Amino acid sequence: MEHEPDLPDPDAPERVRRARDDAARSAEELARQWEQVVEASEFTNNDDEHDPEGSTIAYEREQVRSMLGRVKRELEALDLAAERLREGTYWTCERCGGPIDPDRLAARPTARACIGCARRP
Ligand SMILES: [Zn+2]
Repeated sequence: MEHEPDLPDPDAPERVRRARDDAARSAEELARQWEQVVEASEFTNNDDEHDPEGSTIAYEREQVRSMLGRVKRELEALDLAAERLREGTYWTCERCGGPIDPDRLAARPTARACIGCARRP
């Protein structure tokens, strides 16, 4: 990877890359879990909420679905962050055009707005 000494935080690209790797691993793991709960729910298709096992599986299914949705959104946000890093817009608030505090980006690598804009609805 190229060394870019001009970055407000030289660790940022590596941080985004690592976070993306983690998210990608979580997505794979959740996709496996998803297959398992879908498989499990096929056996209980004829049952309804009166079957305790069926409702547990339905619950797990919803849990996995929502976690998978979250991790996919996280992946998209991290891809966008990587793109913004490449373009050099990572450090600029997309709403007011002002700088984003590097500490904020260290804590939230996918942030696209400065703290002032993020707090405004
Ligand atoms: Zn702003």
